[in-house]
Amino acid sequence: MRTVPSLLSMLDDPAAAPEPLAPVVMPWDYIQMRRLSAGLSIEDASKPFWHRPEHRADVERNMSQIETVGFRVKRLWDMSRSFRLNLTVYRQLCDTPPDTHPRLCLACGWDEWSHQLDAEGFDCAWSAANPEICTLCEQIKRAKFKPRPANTQPHSHTARASQRAA
Ligand SMILES: [Zn+2]
Repeated sequence: MRTVPSLLSMLDDPAAAPEPLAPVVMPWDYIQMRRLSAGLSIEDASKPFWHRPEHRADVERNMSQIETVGFRVKRLWDMSRSFRLNLTVYRQLCDTPPDTHPRLCLACGWDEWSHQLDAEGFDCAWSAANPEICTLCEQIKRAKFKPRPANTQPHSHTARASQRAA
């Protein structure tokens, strides 16, 4: 269900306008949402992955690169030492068009196949009041996802975007 009118549909003849754009969580957004919901900076998130000081800059660069708009990683490394990410969801966000993306909490990126506790210690579920977010985000009033500028392009899932991937 798409209920958010796009700027285009407001400017153009509604009959001729393209489908309104719902906020689409792209792979780089997903990683950022999961990192931020774990309360980690790029530096914090990188720490478990380097042991020698000379590796630190490289790891932090990689960690911020995977959040760069348009960047998709073929084989994302296991993030569990740092924050929780569903690699299957990541893959789907990379490889499938936005209208077939899995449903995610639009505040923290939680998916219903991943275990997460809410603020009361119960298993997370979809919020009854706002089905776009999970019960944890409802309880702690986490801010909702705002697509970054490049995501508002109707064709962000294109060959051009993939070409920039590593
Ligand atoms: Zn959430």
